[in-house]
Amino acid sequence: MCGIIGLMENTEVIERLNRGLLTLQHRGQDAAGVLTYDGRFHTKKGLGLIRDVFSTYDDIRNLRGTIGLGHVRYPTIGGCRFEDAQPFDVNYPFGIAIVHNGNVTNYHSLRRDLELTKKRMLYSTNDVEAILNVFAEALAHIPRSRATFSEILNAVESVFDQAKGAYSVILYISGQGLVAFRDPCGIRPLVFGCRTDTFLPQYAIASESAVMTSLGYKNFRDVESGEVIFIDEKSRRVYSGKVQKYKHYPHIPCIFEWVYFARPDSLIDQVNVYKSRVFMGKYLAQEVKKYELDIDVVIPVPDSSRDAAIELARELGLKYREGLVKNRYIGRTFIMPGTEERSSSVKQKLMPIFAEFKDKNVLLVDDSIVRGNTSQCIVQMAREAGASKVYFASYSAPLISPCYYGIDMQTKREFIARGRNIDMIASLIGADKVIYQPIENMLKAVYLGNNELKDFCKACFTGTYPTAEISAELIEEIENDRHQALKACQSS
Ligand code: SF4
Repeated sequence: MCGIIGLMENTEVIERLNRGLLTLQHRGQDAAGVLTYDGRFHTKKGLGLIRDVFSTYDDIRNLRGTIGLGHVRYPTIGGCRFEDAQPFDVNYPFGIAIVHNGNVTNYHSLRRDLELTKKRMLYSTNDVEAILNVFAEALAHIPRSRATFSEILNAVESVFDQAKGAYSVILYISGQGLVAFRDPCGIRPLVFGCRTDTFLPQYAIASESAVMTSLGYKNFRDVESGEVIFIDEKSRRVYSGKVQKYKHYPHIPCIFEWVYFARPDSLIDQVNVYKSRVFMGKYLAQEVKKYELDIDVVIPVPDSSRDAAIELARELGLKYREGLVKNRYIGRTFIMPGTEERSSSVKQKLMPIFAEFKDKNVLLVDDSIVRGNTSQCIVQMAREAGASKVYFASYSAPLISPCYYGIDMQTKREFIARGRNIDMIASLIGADKVIYQPIENMLKAVYLGNNELKDFCKACFTGTYPTAEISAELIEEIENDRHQALKACQSS
């Protein structure tokens, strides 16, 4: 999971680029970067949070131009190294810059092909560099000095043909315009906004609609699955279309965006993330009811589970209390690269309010249980604070399979729910009872917001992958790669 943004505006863009990027900080804390253009590319990127990378006026004063790209990174393919921070750019043809969110599943074979057959050198282990090279290769052979929309569509077709997986991409072709596209199945999100209340239209493209709100773009929509948008820099005209060959692909956005990744104030595929979480809480309450537990108080694991927990408590007529206080200055544990870092940061990040636990039967509500380390820490914290009984409810279904589309849960061994029933899971995390949301209720909570949605990517809950290239061999290759990257991160 990463956050991306592209802006084409009428005044210097860096300040607003930075503001938009801050809206996406939750999507990646490993690295951040921006690129602007004023006749040449200006880039600043580095490891850490946006505030670490852009900490002084000097860091931004050279980033001139009215067009720019921004990125916050969370590592999937590639490690935690500076070379893997985005944006990336190539000087030929034209000068093209890129940011992406997602994962190229056949990265290794594509890289080999680019190096051996196309004789290109890749500087990083970031899969976005492979996408950039495929796109650039396709535009290198056009006869004119400017690309037409149909040539851009052909270049994206080459990307779809060669780079499998799920990714949203924003590119800038220097002096020509911004290009944005979403993978043929629309697994990763992307939103396109336009402002016409200024002397020239202005445009924004971003991972989440909260960026549009933050930057004052009232007119925005989702980029459709497989859709390619080109904004011509000179005319400010917008071209949009789909690659014919991929038109029939089903639209299956990632269900986990609504569960955890996206901000509650975002709309993903027109469904309000906050409302979907409220419905998940409502349905989870029905599940909890079946167990006839003696519960004194409902306590959310902050922050993402709060919306669901409030609704769950309301449905069951139970007390809701904020029993865990979060230190906001420690990063999201799910996206810490290693297990040890995750466990220790949970203890630093959450502190119990003893009075809310002492001698009480508490129901903790969280968005999910992935590896179980975080849940185990929190259950232990509740017991140490004096809870009599600790029940643990997840408002998403049991996670059992790795995500190969851009989320850091890529090895099968990592899932506590894989091959275990709820009693075994409860015993492992030290809870008196574990309760999960049934998968159909999790999906229903999102369907309710947009009756045109027919299906989702839900592979991490079912083990069935929607893209054809996922095979046993490819899974082994990705898992090995992930292990290597994590080892490299932990030893660096
Ligand atoms: Fe989202 Fe899970 Fe699909 Fe990954 S496998 S894209 S996390 S639903």
